[in-house]
Amino acid sequence: MNPIQDVLIVGGGTAGWLTAAFLAKQLGTARGGVRITLVESSDIGIIGVGEGTFPSIRGTLSAIGIGEARFLEACSATFKQGIRFDHWVRPEGTPGHDHYFHPFSQPSQRPGAPELLPYWLRGEAGAGRAFADAVTLQKAVVDARHGPKRAVDGDFVGPLNYAYHFDAGRFAALLAEHGQSLGVKRVLATVDRVDLDERGAIATVHTREAGALTADLYIDCSGFRARLIGEAMGSPFKPLNDVLFVDRALAMQVPYGRPDAPIASCTIASARQHGWIWDIGLQERRGIGHVYSSRHCDDDDAERVLRRYVGPAGDALTPRKLTLNVGYRETQWTHNCVAVGLSGGFLEPLESSGIGLIETAAYLIGQLFPFNGDMGPAARHFNAFMRERYVRIVDFIKMHYALTQRRDSAFWRDNADPSSWTGTLTDKLAMWRARPPQRLDFITDVEMYLPASWQYVLYGMEFKTDLGAATAALTRADEARREFQAIAQLGAHALRDLPPHRALIEQMLARA
Ligand code: FAD
Repeated sequence: MNPIQDVLIVGGGTAGWLTAAFLAKQLGTARGGVRITLVESSDIGIIGVGEGTFPSIRGTLSAIGIGEARFLEACSATFKQGIRFDHWVRPEGTPGHDHYFHPFSQPSQRPGAPELLPYWLRGEAGAGRAFADAVTLQKAVVDARHGPKRAVDGDFVGPLNYAYHFDAGRFAALLAEHGQSLGVKRVLATVDRVDLDERGAIATVHTREAGALTADLYIDCSGFRARLIGEAMGSPFKPLNDVLFVDRALAMQVPYGRPDAPIASCTIASARQHGWIWDIGLQERRGIGHVYSSRHCDDDDAERVLRRYVGPAGDALTPRKLTLNVGYRETQWTHNCVAVGLSGGFLEPLESSGIGLIETAAYLIGQLFPFNGDMGPAARHFNAFMRERYVRIVDFIKMHYALTQRRDSAFWRDNADPSSWTGTLTDKLAMWRARPPQRLDFITDVEMYLPASWQYVLYGMEFKTDLGAATAALTRADEARREFQAIAQLGAHALRDLPPHRALIEQMLARA
């Protein structure tokens, strides 16, 4: 076994450059540590979508040394405080609530105060007050399109959790510049052949423009092509189209009507008959796309649906069409090759798991890094961890569809049919009919989504938990009601104190 001295990353999208920058920091590349080379093709573009993130991105940017103001400026980035789901429970135009919110802030839990969820289930927050609205002030802030923090003593601070929206092309460019400043060597070339050795490990990667490249560890970030892990190593892909139906996307970049247009401070996910539309507000434009199931809807229909949503602002625009490979590889690290990003798997854009999974994989590779060259144990742990994480994300995403009351198309009827659910999701929902989700239902290090996220979506989708005789134990209703009132008052204060989202960004850019 030879110690690992050289790492070769194939692919220069979000996966490639985020992994390169993270490992360069972790492995001390600029200070004479493990050498990292990234090869990317100038003929094959990056996927160029993937503009919504999860709050973990803040820790990742900080770990690689990219400050917030620099990031906002370079990537046209904005603040994302959660996701608003429109028309997921019932179709547009039907009486009843037509949206719910998945905030990134946790439910309020003051020391000594009772846990609020059981009291909310019993109606103590007041009739018609949605769970997310009752337990955090974030929904009030997002409804008013305000930012998550404000200027205080030369800094920007606030109580609300958030992630970002950003321009994917500009993010990859920033990461590439930053990765190189951390010592990553960039090679512009297209990999056209891979030689394996007698054990089945990668021996050499041949490129058209830069000849043969060799390394001790190869990281496949070549996107859906999966040039190394799929084509060369043959690691099987587990398709999941029978559970998660959307497999096509049409994407547009839509300019604002005026430069000072308010910017939404959450992703809007608006359900349609055969899928849903994402709407992401950046500084100068919105990213809007329709993801749909090709089994339930043809491309022309899907484009009409997208155009109806965008309105005249999209008349001169041509949407980009993307085919999505929904599923993942159960073995993402084999021999000396590990996959990160779309080459390892993809589970549709709802809840922004894509970049979150890249962060997880990069972090794991850094933690498990087999300096001595003994890759077997690291690979086995990596594969087990990523598999478990994927299984749980699939359940979380499917839950959004499974609980719908929509029956207006085969797409929604098929999603609501329990035969399309996973066994693990069916079990979870069965448990939660008699009691709400609790912390110990989850192995939190493996989960991407914390228990509160499951609660927000479950009760946003109007799932019914019947507490039955357990209500007898709820003896602190007065305190819970006071908490609900206090949260509403804090929401009103926050609206006064926090600036509109666009104003916050302008203030931060002015100080950058
Ligand atoms: P890519 O961006 O495709 O990059 C592949 C790289 O490999 C390129 O640099 C290319 O040049 C290189 N390459 C390929 N073949 C070769 C070769 N033979 N030789 C050399 N180089 C090669 N994720 C989120 O977190 N949030 C979202 O909101 C979200 N929305 C999405 C919406 C859609 C419609 C899709 C499809 C995905 C979305 N994702 C989202 C996922 C996200 O876009 C990806 O996880 C992310 O962009 C990473 O992509 P990647 O780097 O793996 O692949």
